[in-house]
Amino acid sequence: MILDGESLAKKVYLDVKKRVAELEEKGVRPGLCAIRVGSDPASQLYVGKKIRACENCGIKSKAVILDETAEESELISAIQKENEDPSTHGILIQLPLPSSIDTQIVIEAISPKKDVDGFHPFNVGRVATGVGGFPPCTPKGILRLLDEYGLDVRGKEVVIVGASRIAGRPTAELFLSRMATITVCHIETKDLAFHTRRAEILVVAVGRPGLITKEMISQGVVIVDVGVNRIIDSNNPRGFRVVGDVAPSCRERAYAWTPVPGGVGPMTVAMLLENTVIAAEASLTGITV
Ligand code: NAD
Repeated sequence: MILDGESLAKKVYLDVKKRVAELEEKGVRPGLCAIRVGSDPASQLYVGKKIRACENCGIKSKAVILDETAEESELISAIQKENEDPSTHGILIQLPLPSSIDTQIVIEAISPKKDVDGFHPFNVGRVATGVGGFPPCTPKGILRLLDEYGLDVRGKEVVIVGASRIAGRPTAELFLSRMATITVCHIETKDLAFHTRRAEILVVAVGRPGLITKEMISQGVVIVDVGVNRIIDSNNPRGFRVVGDVAPSCRERAYAWTPVPGGVGPMTVAMLLENTVIAAEASLTGITV
């Protein structure tokens, strides 16, 4: 069974549009500001996608683009300006940032109320303790996708490969909050296949094409492939194609899987818009998300 993130994202957008219209009746137009530093092509592409998705749903969006050589203080000033702007409800910093900039300092400069990517320690802490917060968009999108297909995670053996704070770690927190049993693997994990074979749900967020092969999984597993990798393909007009971290042959054994592209990626963007609407709704009530 294919877990179609593209189709589910369209459903999410219908709900987002409805909530945007309700907010507009109350005099609030949700606004998202995307801040990008430098001209990395992948970052340009991702910010472009997010801005277009906002436009399609009636969310006011703007992109602030700083030069590759911008200093950390310039970026912090740009964030502070958006923190104070009441028409901006969500702020996202497109990662990665140039190595001269301390990503953590930048993330902590975002007002937690506007941290719709869910990377600020305030939101990380609220999500980890299960009291609320903005969950990061990728893990939130993964769980929404599993829910949509009726794949219950309670009590399941969930193995997550990759432990970054953007993908692997927060995914572990969200699955744990749903009462799954979690194993998190990373570059230092000794026998990866030992763990992946135990998985009833396998989430792979590493950035290495073909890392997971058929021999490493069990029959009937649900595979969530977060990886986005460009590989050279001379038959493709663009000269490359996008693949995940899981070898295509794994599908023979899987009960369900997310395609790449078209699985987790569209859900991540959809959850960003949903979080922005939640931030705008919270701005009316003053309640901490
Ligand atoms: P990262 O480089 O920050 O983290 C990679 C993680 O994988 C680390 O925890 C590392 O220890 C682990 N790892 C590396 N090699 C390994 C190996 N051989 N065995 C086991 N673990 C290994 O990357 P990231 O930002 O988490 O992104 C991971 C992938 O997910 C990338 O392809 C990225 O493009 C993709 N991604 C996709 C989305 C989306 O919306 N679809 C969102 C975020 C990230």
